[in-house]
Amino acid sequence: MLATVIHGAKDLRLEERPEPGAPADHQVLLRFGAGGICGSDLSYFNKGRVGDFMVREPLCLGHEFAGEVIATGAAVTGLKPGDRVAVNPNHPCRVCRACVAGKGHLCYKMNFFGSAAVYPHIQGVFRETLLVDAAQCHRVPRLIDFRIAAMAEPMAVSLHAIQRAGSLVGKDVLITGGGPIGCLVMLAARHAGARSITVTEVSDKAIDRLRQLPIDEVVHSLTDQAQVERWYENKGRFDLSFECSGNPQALASAIRATASGGKVVIVGMPGVPEVPLPVNPFVAREVDLVGSFRFDGEFAQAVDVLTRGAIDVSAVLTHSFPLRAAQEAFMVASDRDQSLKVHLLA
Ligand SMILES: [Zn+2]
Ligand SMILES: [Zn+2]
Repeated sequence: MLATVIHGAKDLRLEERPEPGAPADHQVLLRFGAGGICGSDLSYFNKGRVGDFMVREPLCLGHEFAGEVIATGAAVTGLKPGDRVAVNPNHPCRVCRACVAGKGHLCYKMNFFGSAAVYPHIQGVFRETLLVDAAQCHRVPRLIDFRIAAMAEPMAVSLHAIQRAGSLVGKDVLITGGGPIGCLVMLAARHAGARSITVTEVSDKAIDRLRQLPIDEVVHSLTDQAQVERWYENKGRFDLSFECSGNPQALASAIRATASGGKVVIVGMPGVPEVPLPVNPFVAREVDLVGSFRFDGEFAQAVDVLTRGAIDVSAVLTHSFPLRAAQEAFMVASDRDQSLKVHLLA
């Protein structure tokens, strides 16, 4: 079985690994359909780490995944060979304080595919066959494109950010960062009833691409600094801001641009542990700052909006490569000028 394995920064290898064997009672055996390359996969690829989590042993990458059921364990009901599924990479322990409080995505002992957060690392999904807990599998229609089904994970991230924001109906929304997550948050914000959506970006090519999407205003936050500074006047311009770039300056700017009584949702993980922020908006203008991490029940919601076509993500899917061309796929995905979401295919 072929697997896409990272050994350290820029050291991605295609390796032959043993077949996973028969599923246990509660498991299903899946054949790879499509897998989306995420920012965390790219961080492992380019830097050999995500934040504090270093690659300390060979790690099969990937957590955005859809595939086909090959075999089911004895206790599995509701899934059969031939079914297509989107896989929720969250596998919470169900007994820790966060899990008991109903926030499984904040589990203290999360088992998340393709992650070096714990040692031994938890191997990821970019491989030809895989055993998964049946509870993590969401059946999707037979005819759906595997790539669309594999978008359930980043879509769920975006829907969770929307949930953290509260109602968007009639709101003026700012999104900083027009990468895959910024674009999905934009689509989810439209779907949730935002009145206007403004997106900032720093890549010229990304801006050209964003101008093809249903966005009211696309602003180059470096060359159009004067425009950005006008948002800071009169106690801020936007009801809600979503920081999706991971850039600390973009976060500070979003806080200043958010109107009194508004809210800023941090979706992009800043690459550094501490960032300087303007404090006055929190106190004197009661701007709220909340974080948004992964998702919980939003995964099922994401599968639903994608399979019904209620949110059309096709504009975000820019490239696909066979699993064997993973190296090239990771290079293209690392180039923000070229690509949004890049998929590996069987
Ligand atoms: Zn992801
Ligand atoms: Zn837990």
